[in-house]
Amino acid sequence: MSYQPSSERYATMKYNRCGKSGLRLPALSLGLWHNFGGVDTYENARAMIRKSFDLGITHFDLANNYGPPAGSAEETFGKVLKDDLSAHRDELIISSKAGYYMWEGPYGDWGSKKYLVSSLDQSLKRMDLDYVDIFYHHRPDPETPLEETMAALDLIVRQGKALYVGISNYQADQAAEAIRILRELGTPLLIHQPSYSMFNRWIENGLQDVLEEGGVGSIAFTPLAQGMLTNRYLGGIPSDSRAAKPATFLREGDVTEQKVAKVQQLNVIAQERGQSVAQLALAWVLRGGRVTTALIGASRVSQIEENVAALNNLDFTAEELDRIEAILRD
Ligand code: NDP
Repeated sequence: MSYQPSSERYATMKYNRCGKSGLRLPALSLGLWHNFGGVDTYENARAMIRKSFDLGITHFDLANNYGPPAGSAEETFGKVLKDDLSAHRDELIISSKAGYYMWEGPYGDWGSKKYLVSSLDQSLKRMDLDYVDIFYHHRPDPETPLEETMAALDLIVRQGKALYVGISNYQADQAAEAIRILRELGTPLLIHQPSYSMFNRWIENGLQDVLEEGGVGSIAFTPLAQGMLTNRYLGGIPSDSRAAKPATFLREGDVTEQKVAKVQQLNVIAQERGQSVAQLALAWVLRGGRVTTALIGASRVSQIEENVAALNNLDFTAEELDRIEAILRD
């Protein structure tokens, strides 16, 4: 049977303005870094994308190298678009990126205009799209002049291959410079994509101020610390978890006793609030409205349902925030 999206999909999701732009993004977005590759089960990937859309998640985040193999997450997403969502393209914000290694030779990595333009052309082919909504430079390039990388983003927008541009993993001073250059070029920076979670708070140290001053939004990746800020590891390392899988960026050794003990303490506060730890961690990332959207990953539909339900309780008392600070500090 053909897929019919839920008629209730816009009833409960919150949409936050992205910086000072005209674009609003769902408070939770779905990333396709893991579990959407050629090695994964298509029907599970498809079910997660459908469920997300049914719950009001309009933003799907990709990159040229997501898979494995690299490129295959874009192919999977393109297939789901074709199979289920082709009538809904105008309801979707689809992003891709280039900046990490993608192909051999001098033009398949980092930040040259040659790499960014070619890579986006490849991404569009893999997804069978005319344009992406947001195109990112994935990481700063210490050798290419920032003017060239930003000129590539500006060119891509003028060519109609992306509507908006973003940067990812840029430090505060690099972001400030990117904001200045793009403003001069006439293609304002829409969004920055940094890592941010209870276990990783570097953006509070300058970057958030730069983005606010520049009118730029932010999308926080790995808000659940790749699954550590959930109940996933409270009883050991399950064999189907990310930490147990080979070739991921979460190693068994990252799941330390100290981290698990903190999650156990956070779980007490979560339960008092009628939430799971994952829900608490997502509400915390979104607290105070400084982050536009939390960019989650998932391995199954039930995680997406649980995570979206975090939006039912986003408010914190000062006392709760103090208790969380004490747990994170110790
Ligand atoms: P998260 O921190 O949200 O971790 C997601 C993982 O946590 C899931 O795969 C799952 O792991 C587990 N999980 C999620 N929800 C639950 C739940 N309710 N209960 C129990 N476990 C849960 O984010 P990701 O690390 O996946 O990153 C999200 C996105 O951010 C990526 O897809 C990508 O789009 C982007 N990203 C960007 C980067 C950049 O450089 N710009 C770098 C990294 C990510 P399990 O498999 O164990 O079930």
